[in-house]
Amino acid sequence: MDCLFCKIIDGEIPSTKVYEDEYVYGFKDIEPIAPVHYLLVPKTHISGANEITAENSEVIAKIFEAAAKIAKKEGFENGFRIINNCGDDAGQTVKHLHFHLLAGVKMGWGKESLGKCE
Ligand code: AMP
Ligand code: ZN
Repeated sequence: MDCLFCKIIDGEIPSTKVYEDEYVYGFKDIEPIAPVHYLLVPKTHISGANEITAENSEVIAKIFEAAAKIAKKEGFENGFRIINNCGDDAGQTVKHLHFHLLAGVKMGWGKESLGKCE
């Protein structure tokens, strides 16, 4: 399958690995928007959050377990943020389900961070 993140998981395209288990691969985002910006992806191809079903939803729990482990290990004691962009309106550019894990900075929240919503 012609999928960037599948190729990263398979090692065909290089990445900076930060986490790996049976279900989840974690690596550094190539264009970080925070001091810590990792991507957590299921090892199985799921195109987006809109394709989560009763059959594949276990990986979501595994991704959040991974995030908590990383946060403890790397000491994100001031907090962290997990973001999923799903579909074009949310700006999903890679069609392999992924969660952005951001930390290391005080982050804004609210309408300003979304831009002008119409
Ligand atoms: P999204 O816009 O939510 O689909 O997020 C896709 C993310 O993938 C962006 O933050 C990109 O910077 C990141 N990205 C794209 N190509 C690579 C790559 N080869 N290695 C690491 N991160 C990447
Ligand atoms: Zn994929």
